[in-house]
Amino acid sequence: MSIFRADRKFERFEDVTPELLKKESVKLLLCDLDNTLRLHSEKEPADELQDWIQDCHGAGVKVVVISNNGRKKMMQKFCEPIDVPCVWWAKKPMSKKLTEAMDEYKIPPEHTVMLGDKWSTDVLAAKFAKVRAWKVEHRRDIV
Ligand SMILES: [Mg+2]
Repeated sequence: MSIFRADRKFERFEDVTPELLKKESVKLLLCDLDNTLRLHSEKEPADELQDWIQDCHGAGVKVVVISNNGRKKMMQKFCEPIDVPCVWWAKKPMSKKLTEAMDEYKIPPEHTVMLGDKWSTDVLAAKFAKVRAWKVEHRRDIV
């Protein structure tokens, strides 16, 4: 099986429901930010993102943003109001930051999922960290 192959595919992040997370015994959901949880141009978290994060938390799932975006202040400003810790400049496909998050929250790989839009970064990083790779469709700004 190719290491570029996602374990599951979804249209959008909202399709990853609390029910599914429970069913798949996910306790830690590592999420890419750009074009996964938001469009690159979005400055503030959308209502549907806030609701989704709350639903995840309600299902007992810890959500952590792990992004290759290096704009620390922007990321903190985006993630703080939705109560989600964020890691910037993560250098995916390197898996170091994914492993660090599992260590920090003491959740093993079998209860962890990496959700992202890119094969070359998110899916590969998940494979290297030995966690499930769930992929959403790449979201594009409509111009
Ligand atoms: Mg992305």
